[in-house]
Amino acid sequence: MIAAPRSGRYSVFALARQALRQHSGWTRAWANPEPRPRYKVVVIGAGGHGLATAYYLGKNFGITDVAVLEKGWLGGGNTGRNTTIIRSNYLQDPSAALYEKARSLYETLSQDLNYNIMFSPRGLIMLAQTEHEVRGYRRTVHANALQGVATEWVTPAQVKDLVPIINLDGPRYPVLGGLYQARGGTARHDAVAWGYARACSDMGMHIIQNCEVTGIRTDAGQVRGVDTTRGLIGCEKLAIVVAGHSSQLAEMAGFRLPIESVALQALVSEPIKPCMDVVVMANTVHGYMSQSDKGEMVIGGGTDGFNNFTQRGSWQHVEETVRALVETFPMISRLKMLRQWGGIVDMTGDRSPILSATPVGGIFVNCGWGTGGFKAIPGSGWAMAELVAKDSPGPLAADFGLNRFREGRFIDESVAAGVAH
Ligand SMILES: Cc1cc2nc3c(=O)[nH]c(=O)nc-3n(C[C@H](O)[C@H](O)[C@H](O)COP(=O)(O)OP(=O)(O)OC[C@H]3O[C@@H](n4cnc5c(N)ncnc54)[C@H](O)[C@@H]3O)c2cc1C
Repeated sequence: MIAAPRSGRYSVFALARQALRQHSGWTRAWANPEPRPRYKVVVIGAGGHGLATAYYLGKNFGITDVAVLEKGWLGGGNTGRNTTIIRSNYLQDPSAALYEKARSLYETLSQDLNYNIMFSPRGLIMLAQTEHEVRGYRRTVHANALQGVATEWVTPAQVKDLVPIINLDGPRYPVLGGLYQARGGTARHDAVAWGYARACSDMGMHIIQNCEVTGIRTDAGQVRGVDTTRGLIGCEKLAIVVAGHSSQLAEMAGFRLPIESVALQALVSEPIKPCMDVVVMANTVHGYMSQSDKGEMVIGGGTDGFNNFTQRGSWQHVEETVRALVETFPMISRLKMLRQWGGIVDMTGDRSPILSATPVGGIFVNCGWGTGGFKAIPGSGWAMAELVAKDSPGPLAADFGLNRFREGRFIDESVAAGVAH
C-alpha cells in the first residue's frame, strides 16, 4: 500500500477558513509522483474512463496499488474536449443499463468525490424531424419504460414550451415532436476528470502525467509491464483506456481492435444572457446545442468522413453545423464564434463500447465510446474496475466483450448515436 497524500476536505467551512488566509493554504488537489518500478494495476490514459476505472478499483475492490499513466495532461484528451451531454435514452437493454448506471452515479458524484462536478440535470430533447424519427423515438420511449429509464414523448407544442427560442417550422424539416429525458443534462467535463484524479490521489494511487506508453511487454501470453518515456514500469494487470489511440496500444500488445479513429468537432459562441435551459439535439439536420453556465452556446458538430488523428476543427464542419442550428434556432444567426476544436474518437461498427479481456492475459480494454462516452464515465469506470479486479465481466460489462464482433451479437445503437454528442 502506498502512503496517501491528503488534499483536505472541501466544504463551506474550508472555504471560509481559506478566505481568511487569502486562499494561501490550499494544498495541491493531486500529487505529482515519480513512477515506481512496479504496480499491481497500470491504467493507460488519464481521461475520465481511465481515472474512473482507477477510482472504482480502489473504492469498490480496495485495490490502490495503481498507476494511471498519461502521455499529456490529465483530462486533455476527449474528456476535456466534449460538449458534456449526459443522457441514458438508448434503445438496447445492455446499453440502457450501462448508461443509466452512469447517469445515476452522476446524480451524486459531487458528494461522492467531494468535488463539485456541476452536474446539471436540466433536461434533454432529441428532436424528431421526420416520420421515421418519430417512429424510432417512440420505440425508444417504450423500450426505456421497460428498462426503467424515465423518458417521454413530447409534442411540438410541449417542445416549444420547453425551448421558446426554437423554430418549429424549419425551412427543410418541421419539428414533429421529441424524445425527452427530464434528468438528462450536462456536467463540467474538466471537473469530472479533476474530481476523480483527486480522489485517486487521496487513495494513494499514482497519476503520472507526461508519461507516454511506447511499448507493452508480454511474456508467455501474459502482460509484464510497459515501456514509457519515463522508463519501464512493471504490472500484474494492464487496462488500456485511451479512446482514439486504442488501435495503436493494441498493436503494441500484438492484437487488433475493430476501432476506427476519426476527429469529432465542436465550437462555442460568445457568451450571451440565459436563453435556453434544456439541451437540444437535432439529428436530422445534424447539430446540437446547450448553454453553458458562462452563457456560451455550446455547439456539437459531426465526425470527419475519413480516419485521422488531428485534434483540430475545420471550416467545413463549422459551416455545416451552424447552418443546421441557425434553421433550428434563428436567433443565434448573429452570434460570434469564440473557439472551435476537435478530439479523436474511437468508433465501433455497432456504435457501442468495448469493455473486455483481450487475447493477452492480464490486459483489458475499455474503448469504442465514440462520440458519446462522457455521459458513461462513472458507469464505465464501475464496470471496468469489476472486470479488472475479478478477471471477468460483471453484469454491466458482460455484453460488451470483444467476442461480440466474432459471434455477430452486435448492440446496435446507431439511432441513439445518430448525432455526435
Ligand atoms: C468534440 C467532442 C464532443 C463530444 N461530446 C460528447 C457529449 O456531449 N457527450 C458525451 O457523452 N460524449 C461526448 N464526446 C465523447 C467523449 O468525449 C469521449 O467518449 C470520452 O471523453 C472518452 O473518454 P476517455 O477517457 O475514454 O478518453 P480520453 O479523454 O481521450 O482519454 C484518453 C487519454 O489517453 C491518453 N493516451 C493516449 N495514448 C497514450 C499513450 N500511448 N500513453 C499514455 N497515455 C495515452 C490521451 O492523452 C488521453 O488523455 C465528445 C467528444 C468530442 C471529441
